[in-house]
Amino acid sequence: MVLNASYEPLCVVPQRRAVVLVLNLKAITLEEAGSPLHAASFELPAPAVVKLTRYVRVPVRRGVPLTRRAVFARDAGRCVYCDAPATSIDHVIPRSRGGRHAWDNVVSSCRRCNHVKADRPLIELGWRMKRQPVQPSGSAWRILSSGRTDPRWMPYLRGYGADVELLPFEPHWPDGIVVSEGARSQRLAA
Ligand SMILES: [Zn+2]
Repeated sequence: MVLNASYEPLCVVPQRRAVVLVLNLKAITLEEAGSPLHAASFELPAPAVVKLTRYVRVPVRRGVPLTRRAVFARDAGRCVYCDAPATSIDHVIPRSRGGRHAWDNVVSSCRRCNHVKADRPLIELGWRMKRQPVQPSGSAWRILSSGRTDPRWMPYLRGYGADVELLPFEPHWPDGIVVSEGARSQRLAA
């Protein structure tokens, strides 16, 4: 994860890119990722969090893009109806009944609830949501909406819109490995 010189979270880059930033003195390592990287003539701690040495201006983004990964991250990978691990995205007010595809109407849900609910509204089922869906905000969501998380990042995301209690962690997420979209969705679905 890359932080601006001001500590504001910026983006996630492959570890190789982070190493290049450090070697070129464009960034310093704040958190190490465990096993060091070996090269022909030197050994370098693998970075987990780096901070740019110079402040870069970033365009202000209007809201967090509504993606499956971002919804799962906001809802901590849990079904908003029963708290089981989520496997799908649900429109609270079904689209067939005029429900919008918007942050306050899109939630993560488990397969069973999604199936039982089908295109019925909650009031018809007598269901309640565990938490009210809202649009996430803050620069932490530049990172979180990617769907990748690392416990070492969390202290740097607090104060930038990360609701730490809600975030899912990958307990055995391998250091520095950029996992493909497919593999990640399989994990989420598991
Ligand atoms: Zn459920």
